[in-house]
Amino acid sequence: MSDDCLFCKIVAGEVPADIVYENEHVVAFRDINPQAPVHVLIIPRQHIATINDLEPGNADLVGHMYLAAQHIAGVEKLAERGYRTVMNCNQDAGQTVFHIHLHLLGGRQLDWPPG
Ligand code: AMP
Ligand code: ZN
Repeated sequence: MSDDCLFCKIVAGEVPADIVYENEHVVAFRDINPQAPVHVLIIPRQHIATINDLEPGNADLVGHMYLAAQHIAGVEKLAERGYRTVMNCNQDAGQTVFHIHLHLLGGRQLDWPPG
């Protein structure tokens, strides 16, 4: 847990969130400012600030984030029609919360390339 990290506080239950899935590795909750009909954030329980801070020992954890995205996409009926997963890193990508999170977006046609 990192002091003053919003997403660590969600993991700890100190800040409310609309949690859709959790397991021993990750917590997933609906984005407070959704950019698509389905917009879920999948975060590790462990505090890791950015992709740049990942270590080789985190490889399984990142895999668990994608497996959670796959599971949630199925529950939300997105698997066949499709969806997008995005992890922003630092300023140019628009990262605003410095606890890594995988965005799961779906339920509409998504533009490519992203802005
Ligand atoms: P990023 O810009 O990739 O760092 O994404 C951060 C995301 O966190 C944004 O899409 C925000 O809407 C979302 N967000 C910020 N605060 C909360 C919160 N308390 N609960 C749920 N989502 C949040
Ligand atoms: Zn954190």
